[in-house]
Amino acid sequence: MTQQSRRGVCLVISAPSGAGKSTIANALRASEPSLKHSVSVTTRSPRPGEVEGVHYHFRNIDAFRAMAEAGELLEWAEVFGRGYGTPRSPVEKALDAGHDMVFDIDWQGHRQLRAALPEDVVSLFVLPPSLEELERRLHKRASDDPTEIEKRMNAALNEISHWAEFDHTIINSDLDTAISQARSVLTAARLTTRRQRNLVNIVAGFNPPR
Ligand code: 5GP
Repeated sequence: MTQQSRRGVCLVISAPSGAGKSTIANALRASEPSLKHSVSVTTRSPRPGEVEGVHYHFRNIDAFRAMAEAGELLEWAEVFGRGYGTPRSPVEKALDAGHDMVFDIDWQGHRQLRAALPEDVVSLFVLPPSLEELERRLHKRASDDPTEIEKRMNAALNEISHWAEFDHTIINSDLDTAISQARSVLTAARLTTRRQRNLVNIVAGFNPPR
């Protein structure tokens, strides 16, 4: 049997703020440490506990623009009045090396990433069980002030309006179920015939073992 390294999968997870997207992405990575997280660049300030290079690369607007203009970002968008973007080189390196990556980006990033890497992207939208529940979850978050919460609720409705552009949709009413559904999406993406064709040459008669 000839084993060839397959190209990595880009799992894009989008959701309105408060739907549980980061928790789901973190759980996937925790159970599979080889799964890489695409660390975005942002012009927003770090929240308490956020670490440079782990949660985000925190940059000022000039540095962010310079990266975008130099083509160093695979995609970028303005979210809540701040710049957010995906650094190109770590993604290209990971995919070439056969590592799968998780992207926690918004619908604008999803559109651009899909256009840039049409063969590699599989996307997942996480919906809250209801808008009332989403609002309750946003209020529970201590790190954002009330004006920020109101802005995020409006942004959530906008984000949700794009759910049908995604390959898969999960309603996060029970976290464990949502995590296991997200894991199933990733597993199925890895097992598509197109990907498997690159991975293994075992079909008797066509590719006899040497
Ligand atoms: P937060 O500021 O709460 O970490 O993220 C705000 C929003 O920006 C989230 O919806 C998140 O998915 C999105 N976001 C984070 N990084 C990126 C990125 O690199 N590109 C795009 N397009 N959106 C991002």
